[in-house]
Amino acid sequence: MESVAIIGGGIIGTSIAYRLRDAECDVHLYEKDMIGAGTTAKSAAMLTHHQEDPDSEAYELREHAWEWYDDRIAAGTFEFDQIGTLHLARSEDEFATIQEMQRTFASFGLDLPILSPDEIADHNIASDDLRGGLWFPDDGVLDPGAIVRFFADHARDGGVDIETGVAVTDVATSDDQVTGVETTAGFQSADVVINAAGPWAQQVNDLVGVDVPIRHTQGPILVLQADDPVSLPFTFFEEGIYIREEGVSQAFAGQLATDYEDSPMLDPNLTQAIDESMYLQVAEIADTYLPDLPAFDVINEWNGIRTVTPDGQPIVDETDVEGYLLACGMSGYGVTVAPAIGEFVADWLTTGRKPDSLAPLALGRFEAVA
Ligand SMILES: Cc1cc2nc3c(=O)[nH]c(=O)nc-3n(C[C@H](O)[C@H](O)[C@H](O)COP(=O)(O)OP(=O)(O)OC[C@H]3O[C@@H](n4cnc5c(N)ncnc54)[C@H](O)[C@@H]3O)c2cc1C
Repeated sequence: MESVAIIGGGIIGTSIAYRLRDAECDVHLYEKDMIGAGTTAKSAAMLTHHQEDPDSEAYELREHAWEWYDDRIAAGTFEFDQIGTLHLARSEDEFATIQEMQRTFASFGLDLPILSPDEIADHNIASDDLRGGLWFPDDGVLDPGAIVRFFADHARDGGVDIETGVAVTDVATSDDQVTGVETTAGFQSADVVINAAGPWAQQVNDLVGVDVPIRHTQGPILVLQADDPVSLPFTFFEEGIYIREEGVSQAFAGQLATDYEDSPMLDPNLTQAIDESMYLQVAEIADTYLPDLPAFDVINEWNGIRTVTPDGQPIVDETDVEGYLLACGMSGYGVTVAPAIGEFVADWLTTGRKPDSLAPLALGRFEAVA
């Protein structure tokens, strides 16, 4: 391997660049906008174990990433606000769901309590009509912008060429092998090209003629300003809304949608309007459950785009085009898993051996779907 071109300077592309900083090859990263300006800037910023349908492979990937974060949080490199995640159950069905989640996480070695309504009330949530809530005490808020800057700065210091405001417009191939990238700043030869373009991943794949099962879901977030301080974990309500404290007297309200079935391919260059129903739902939830938010103003909002796959796991693999790798489909967990993805991709490229940890993220698992 002589030269690697990474397409995309989000948390995934910069994580890979960071891990390749000492590699004995040229590494170039192209970001058409600014570093971290894509989905990474739109996230709810949680380092989280929460997963409605937990599976051991996703859990292990997160655990690996978590270890990397833990070291840097302990060293003071990253600020971390350990607010916890609370998944609430009002109905019998949802209560059965959180009990099942509790059993599954326990089988992975993560013991999580189910809080009683009284214990939920201690988190400033009116809990009269709630049955319980699964509590993830370790979860918390990170600043994805700081993480991306950390990756990019260290990558640059290690000699990685990071070009912002430069779009990759074509991927050159010869005999089904990549030979380089055409960019708005000229041609760069490369024997490995990594698609870390987030929601733009399929547009980049189209340049190479590669088709993989990825789709998009919308991620609307409303920033709520209250009159008084808000103290609230990352709280999932059965109505499909999550709300968490932000700063002193603000809160983020969002919707977690990660299903592949029936999801469209959106144009990530277009701003998606937020559905009116979300404002009404958030107001109703605040009114019902959140005494700290008796009234609020929506002072900011955005609609991010998640890139999802049929099984909810990322795709990190080489395609039929030799040297053309995918690191996309991070769904709602890219901030959490980024350190692990970067490490495994860099290990693969520098040793020539694909880490076992990437086996669950291989393209082959979708052969039936494709
Ligand atoms: C509303 C919302 C909330 C979320 N909350 C969380 C959370 O709490 N915790 C968590 O772990 N994850 C969360 N996520 C998921 C997380 O934000 C994403 O998985 C992650 O940011 C994806 O990073 P990425 O680097 O793959 O993509 P991006 O950040 O989108 O980066 C891709 C980059 O590629 C660039 N690019 C595209 N095409 C080209 C090209 N042709 N040439 C050059 N550059 C190009 C883009 O400009 C972009 O900057 C959330 C997502 C959303 C939408």
